[in-house]
Amino acid sequence: MIIPWIQDIIDLTIPHICASCQTNLARPSAGLCVNCINKIEALVKGCDDELTQRLGTHENHVSSGFALMYFEQNGVSQHLIHKIKYHNGEHLAKYWGRYLGALLQSLGVHSNTKSSLLIPVPMHKRRERRRGYNAPLHIAYGVQEVIGDKALVCNSVLARVKHSKSQTTADFNQRYERLTESFHAYPLPNKPDVIIIIDDVITSTSTIGHCANALRKVFSNDIYATALAFTP
Ligand SMILES: [Zn+2]
Repeated sequence: MIIPWIQDIIDLTIPHICASCQTNLARPSAGLCVNCINKIEALVKGCDDELTQRLGTHENHVSSGFALMYFEQNGVSQHLIHKIKYHNGEHLAKYWGRYLGALLQSLGVHSNTKSSLLIPVPMHKRRERRRGYNAPLHIAYGVQEVIGDKALVCNSVLARVKHSKSQTTADFNQRYERLTESFHAYPLPNKPDVIIIIDDVITSTSTIGHCANALRKVFSNDIYATALAFTP
């Protein structure tokens, strides 16, 4: 965690460039220039039926899925997510997490009368040590900042107990099989009304599906799945 004034000094002294087109940024916080932000294909309502339907595969326990934008291969959204995941993108993750929080609030997924537990998709400890941080956790902090005190970020309930190799070449069934028994849920610290699982990008839904299945063993109310981006 960087102290805010140190971050300000870094912002002032290091030139920031757009994650997609590499032009200099006057205001670095979004990580993208205005042109590139305008190119992002945003989900109109944030809740994509295709995503929710796909989450229903393999008897997942997810009520609905929400994402902020479509994930476009070689497009702006891919460049942004890549920077968030692999290039010390904690502050970017939090920045875009705030938009996700605003979306969840506008859709009524979180209302002020409900208490939510925000659970980031965990990384295996070994991978997290190598990468230095887990992007979904910082996205969750951004969400929490917007939706307020009734939402609690909790990264100790769900653990990744099996290390899995990169899944890029596997098809859906192979991915799903490989992730079996990968996640374990511990007893909840409180009794929230809803759980919101948070990821950076949802591709095959097998990861988030296994997370929901593990959480179902300790929680019986609605579980929602959300991410910054979703592969159509
Ligand atoms: Zn740009």
